[in-house]
Amino acid sequence: MRTLTILGATGSIGASTLDLVRRNRDGFRVVALTGHSNVTVLAALAREFDAEIAVVGDEARLPELRDALAGSGIASAGGEAALIEAAQRPADVTVAAIVGCAGLAPTMAAIEQGRTVALANKEALVSAGGVMTRAVAQYGTTLLPVDSEHNAIFQCLAGNDPAHVRWITLTASGGPFRDWTAERLHTATPAEAVRHPNWSMGAKISVDSATMMNKGLEFIEAYHLFPVGVERLRIIIHPQSIVHSMVEYRDGSTLAQLGPSDMRVPIASALAWPARMETPCEPLDLAAIGTLTFRAPDELRFPATRLAREAVMAGGALPAVLNASNEIAVAAFLSGKIAFTRIVQCCENVLAATPPAPPQCLDEVIAVDQEARAKARVAMELLI
Ligand code: NAD
Ligand code: MG
Repeated sequence: MRTLTILGATGSIGASTLDLVRRNRDGFRVVALTGHSNVTVLAALAREFDAEIAVVGDEARLPELRDALAGSGIASAGGEAALIEAAQRPADVTVAAIVGCAGLAPTMAAIEQGRTVALANKEALVSAGGVMTRAVAQYGTTLLPVDSEHNAIFQCLAGNDPAHVRWITLTASGGPFRDWTAERLHTATPAEAVRHPNWSMGAKISVDSATMMNKGLEFIEAYHLFPVGVERLRIIIHPQSIVHSMVEYRDGSTLAQLGPSDMRVPIASALAWPARMETPCEPLDLAAIGTLTFRAPDELRFPATRLAREAVMAGGALPAVLNASNEIAVAAFLSGKIAFTRIVQCCENVLAATPPAPPQCLDEVIAVDQEARAKARVAMELLI
């Protein structure tokens, strides 16, 4: 029996995690569940899984949450500080699945408990980079990647010395607009962007997949998780999303992890690590799939991965600036304010401005994030 907290329990990763817990009720006891504003779903999940506490990020919704949990014996709390307190409650495993930099402080609080953190919230690692990886080392925390590519790489690296790695290759589906012309991309709508061909995910990461910024963020995520150096990281387009990533060693051996396009597989790998647990996913039927294809990315139509590579090579505050401007631009695109191709252009314009000083602690990362958001709002107005 392991105790489990889910930060971002009401989202897509949260739902996949709880689906696994539902099928394995003897394996886990739920400590804290958090959500942003969907109090109805949060309360229902807290009751179903008999959580110790449910926390809503939007403090104004706390009275509603209290009402929804009345008589259940489940504690409730609201606001940013309460999210952090929830993350500090002792839990063997914390799934960090809040979307965006909003998850940074709670994820760091979980890391500082020195237990196991299963990380889905890539934006937090992209922004905090060295600050987060230093905390992982300082507190002796086990950081397990949930992002499917990084979970694949983690599995392919197991038992091997990173010094022998020649390449880490992140696979990318290429998203829903993989074969669109540059002209057509300009007219892409939010509804088209969130319709991913292989994966069912939250709106923000779906747009990131369409721009390829998701792969850019994952490139930076891989840089921090796997110490092989930026020059050994590369990206390949693999439309079927069956090979989740690969590691090539100096002797010419390439290890790949394959599986269905279902986040319950990498989540299960992190929840059970170093053991394995059942998932309800269909076994991989390679004969039915028939063909796996690969091709080089096109950074002219999809410049986001170039921006991410440049940001991580320049280092300092730039990855946090990239992430913050992307979050602002994606929200503007989803609300119909800017065209699809302006998302990455907005990021490029903000990155071109004088960068803030490299952040040395969590508060400085948050300050860089806030400053970049303000700059992105200005840059975006010029692109409308
Ligand atoms: P989602 O939008 O479905 O869910 C996000 C969760 O975060 C929800 O519980 C929401 O209530 C909470 N949240 C949002 N804003 C918040 C705020 N300001 N304060 C507190 N909580 C807030 O997103 P998702 O698709 O589940 O993705 C979650 C994270 O996992 C993201 O970082 C994403 O990049 C990563 N990820 C997702 C997938 C996937 O298949 N969905 C795959 C790989 C990585
Ligand atoms: Mg991924």
